[in-house]
Amino acid sequence: MAPDRTRGAGRVAIVGGGLAGCLLAVLLGRRGIEVTVYERRPDPRVAGAERGRSINLAISARGLAALEQVGLRDRSLKQALPMHGRMVHPRGGEPNFQPYSADGERHINSIGRAELNRSLLDTAESTPGVRLVFSQRVTGVDTKAGALLLEDAGGRPLTEPADVILAGDGAYSAVRGSLRPDGDTDVLEHGYKELTVPPKDGEFALDPDALHIWPRGTSMMIALPNLDRSFTCTLFWKKSDFTALGTPGAVTAYFAEHYPDVAGLMPGLAEDYARNPVGSLVTVRCWPWVRYGDGAIVALLGDAAHAIVPFFGQGANCAFEDCIEIDRCLTEADGHWPRALSLYQERRKANTDAIAEMALDNFVEMRDRVSSPVYRAKQAAVHA
Ligand code: FAD
Repeated sequence: MAPDRTRGAGRVAIVGGGLAGCLLAVLLGRRGIEVTVYERRPDPRVAGAERGRSINLAISARGLAALEQVGLRDRSLKQALPMHGRMVHPRGGEPNFQPYSADGERHINSIGRAELNRSLLDTAESTPGVRLVFSQRVTGVDTKAGALLLEDAGGRPLTEPADVILAGDGAYSAVRGSLRPDGDTDVLEHGYKELTVPPKDGEFALDPDALHIWPRGTSMMIALPNLDRSFTCTLFWKKSDFTALGTPGAVTAYFAEHYPDVAGLMPGLAEDYARNPVGSLVTVRCWPWVRYGDGAIVALLGDAAHAIVPFFGQGANCAFEDCIEIDRCLTEADGHWPRALSLYQERRKANTDAIAEMALDNFVEMRDRVSSPVYRAKQAAVHA
């Protein structure tokens, strides 16, 4: 692609070297735009991934289309396992498989978050014009002066001049906090905790071609397969229910009663349960996503703009789509940042609002409706 020296943007900064931040850095670098990515963590390729932070993700056609644009579709699929349907494990019944499409062909992909982030970091690092800075935490923005406010690993404050600031710093975005757009952050009363089903005699202990669900009415557990033949299970329970199981014995007994077909496949259950944190699940609704200051223009993207609950498996897919849209809008606006970012937010907002609502609705479907005989009969009819 021909370099596109984008007007009015001497210094472009991306906040967050996560999924969206890295993809956007690659897209901008390919346009010939010099960009610096500021990431609060040390380089995960050296330091290893954080524990207990959604180990794998379901990536669908939306996310793959975005990865294809930067040549990462095939590499990502090599690190992924296809899941052609959901395997529902009712309480006290046999598991039943519900395909995602009538022809059984359509699938979503279970991808390790850490590998995906590493691939994106590698690609960003090798893109001319992209500079990655680790262990620097952004604390805010000064839109008048055109500056990014940071702290280094020792907590010392730094200031970096920036004309365009693109904030992909996740659901608890410091940039969003600094801009204070209208809106709110809804925290679900349910939290999540990850557990592991290791391989059994070197093989997958459950069917690897499915996203497994244990619907339990007001709560549920899911499991996605990993390349090392383990499964990452995620409990979605009310936060108070996590604390109610206070001893290893209570955990083991609870699982034997409520998740009997999988409890025996989790030899490290009590240790995992005690060690792994309970994460929060939030929906972020805010507007506007773009702030035009005298010194800098700032835009939010990905979870920073519209974090959604994970029950539709679309948060990362949507964050990737934001990056593609920003790139497309830059082309349409002939490289004029204010016009491009204005187009971007107008086009994306309604879509991300819709997916946020669908994600909340799908929690009820997954934890409750999928196990009802009426639902199963309807599904069978649709797929007949
Ligand atoms: P993140 O991936 O959160 O990246 C933000 C980056 O910014 C991080 O690297 C962080 O360290 C950095 N950062 C944060 N603050 C600062 C700061 N102040 N300064 C500098 N850097 C900072 N999505 C799917 O599509 N499919 C799924 O199956 C799926 N499953 C999920 C399961 C769970 C349990 C959860 C919680 C989420 C799930 N998601 C899923 C959602 C997905 O993880 C997010 O939507 C996605 O990671 C958003 O990407 P992002 O780049 O916007 O933010």
